[in-house]
Amino acid sequence: MKAMSRRKALTLAAGAIVVPLSAIGTRTLRAAEPLDPSAPAAEALGYVVESEVADQNCANCQLYQADGDSGQGACAIFPGNVVGAEAWCKAWVKRAV
Ligand code: SF4
Repeated sequence: MKAMSRRKALTLAAGAIVVPLSAIGTRTLRAAEPLDPSAPAAEALGYVVESEVADQNCANCQLYQADGDSGQGACAIFPGNVVGAEAWCKAWVKRAV
């Protein structure tokens, strides 16, 4: 049997680590609770689940990271929770194009 090159072994090892980490990240986000608008931090920033500001919502905010096409995602302001794509808060920042 031919010995595996060091380069190939490292490539396989890196792949074995990256795939589980990405799976954990997705599972963690999906397990996160939706942000409660009555939570103190949410209230302080006027978080609402349905934006009332024209052309502003989480989906087009720089701080939002969509979770696929689930309609929700992570927000840098509210770690540990998910926010809805149609939601909004006072920390909204226009997403760079
Ligand atoms: S900062 Fe506010 S508007 Fe932007 S993603 Fe987070 S909750 Fe939504």
